[in-house]
Amino acid sequence: MEIWQKMLQSCVTSPARLTRRYGVDPRPLAAVAERYPMRVTPYYLSLIQSVDDPIWRQAVPSVEELEAGSCCADPLEEEEQSPVANLVHRYPDRVLFQVCSECAMYCRFCTRKRKVGKDRMQVTRNTIAQGLAYIRKHPEIRDVILSGGDPLLLSNEMLDGILKELRGIPTVEILRIGTRMPVVLPQRITLALTRMLQRYHPLYLNTHFNHPDEITPLAARALARLADAGIPLGNQTVLLRGVNDDPQIMRRLMQRLLAVRVKPYYLYQADLVLGTEHFRTTVEEGLDIMRALRGHTSGMAVPAFVIDAPGGGGKIPLLPEYLQSLGDEVILKNYQGLDYRYSNARPVTEQNVPMAVNQSG
Ligand SMILES: *Cc1c(COP(=O)(O)O)cnc(C)c1O
Ligand code: SF4
Repeated sequence: MEIWQKMLQSCVTSPARLTRRYGVDPRPLAAVAERYPMRVTPYYLSLIQSVDDPIWRQAVPSVEELEAGSCCADPLEEEEQSPVANLVHRYPDRVLFQVCSECAMYCRFCTRKRKVGKDRMQVTRNTIAQGLAYIRKHPEIRDVILSGGDPLLLSNEMLDGILKELRGIPTVEILRIGTRMPVVLPQRITLALTRMLQRYHPLYLNTHFNHPDEITPLAARALARLADAGIPLGNQTVLLRGVNDDPQIMRRLMQRLLAVRVKPYYLYQADLVLGTEHFRTTVEEGLDIMRALRGHTSGMAVPAFVIDAPGGGGKIPLLPEYLQSLGDEVILKNYQGLDYRYSNARPVTEQNVPMAVNQSG
C-alpha cells in the first residue's frame, strides 16, 4: 500500500474525533454526518488553526447543512443531462466523466453532495465501460473531463487503464482531470503518478484551492511535480461565505496560485445546492471581488467569474460594468473607475469611402 493510501485510512470520518482536540460538542454534528458523509485527511485537519476558520468550515459538518433550503439537490440538472450513468453531456463538444464516487475529503459546500461518497453514486467497471462506449459513439466529443468524486483517488493502474482507453479514441483531442488532491492530500501526487500522466498529453489538470492557507509547502511541491511533467495547471475556486468572501483574501489566493504555477481558471458563484445555503454570498459580492482583481494585480491572476446556470444551462460569465455603452463610440470604465472612449465607427476603406470625402480629397 502506498503512503497516501495509508493516510486515507486514518481520515477523520466522525465528528466525535474532533471533541478531544477542539472541545466542540460532536452530538449535533453526528446527524449531519449521517446525511452527508464526513471525511477529512489528517493533513487537511492539521491546517485548521481555530474552530470555524476557513479550513474548518470547508471540512467539518455544520448543523446549518440540515436547514431547509430554497433549492435543490441537483440544481444543475446533471442527472437529466446524463445519457449514461456518471457521464454528463451538457455542451456540444465535451463531457464530464465521473470515474470515482469518493473523495479524500468531503467538502461541506460540494455541488454533488447529493451523491458523492453515498450509496446512490455507484461507479463500477461497468459504468466506466458504458461511458467509454458513449464517447466512442459520439465523435463530436473532443474534450473529456475526468471528475467524480475525485479521479485521483483511483489507483495509478485503474486511472492508467481509463486514460489509455480514452487516448485510443481518435476523436478525443484533450483530456482534463478535475481533482482536489493537491489541496487535501498532496502526498497523492507521487512521481509514479506524474510519470504515468505525462504519457497522455495533451492532459490538463484543474485543481480546487479556495483559500491561501491551503497553499502549503507540501501542496506547492505536489504542484511543481505536476507542472514539471508538462501538465498545465488551472484552478477552480468557489466563492464561499466565511471562507474567501473577501477581496484581499481572494487576491492573495490568486497571486499565490500563480506563484505555484497554477493559472486561476474559474471563480464560481456558489450553486443553489440543498445543504449549502450558509456558504452562499450575493452575486454583487462576487462582482466586487472581480473588480478588486482586474487591473489591481497580474491579469494572469484573474479567473473568469461564472454562474453555473440552474437548470443545466452551463457556465455563464459575469463581469463588472466595464462596458458603459456600445455604439459608434464605446464608453468604457477602467479599473480605477475612470471613463475612456473608443471610436467604433466603421473604418474607412477604398470600398466605403463616402462621396463627399472622395470629391474633396
Ligand atoms: C464545467 C463543465 C464542463 C467544462 O466546461 P469548460 O467551460 O469547458 O471548462 C463540461 N461539462 C460539464 C457538465 C461541466 O459542468
Ligand atoms: S473534492 Fe470536489 S467532488 Fe469531492 S467533495 Fe470536494 S467539491 Fe465535492
